[in-house]
Amino acid sequence: MTYTAESLDIALEHSLGTTTLRVGGEVDLATAAQLRDALLDALVCGSGVAHLDLDGVTFMDTAGIHTLLAGVRRASLMGGHVGMTSASGPVRRVLGVAGVRDSFADPACSCALPLGSP
Ligand SMILES: [Zn+2]
Repeated sequence: MTYTAESLDIALEHSLGTTTLRVGGEVDLATAAQLRDALLDALVCGSGVAHLDLDGVTFMDTAGIHTLLAGVRRASLMGGHVGMTSASGPVRRVLGVAGVRDSFADPACSCALPLGSP
């Protein structure tokens, strides 16, 4: 499944029981809705567990953070989690400034520590 917005590329991959959402481009007010839809699809596909690969994201603002945190809440309602297996410098910075970097991991999962050190 591929979602294409103005400046956002999202690919949903499901392999070895893990659903990974690969995102590239800019996540802002104009593209956050596409990311939200794709993340919800990923959570359904992964039975509540979705991993994010945000290595290709060149820009993310608070709309992106809110979208990701909404996904985290939805995942916990489903008994799962949203993990972040990879993130670009801009994403790490904005998550660090917002103080929500620790929201995207599950201690029992392979996504536990990828963002642990700066
Ligand atoms: Zn995980």
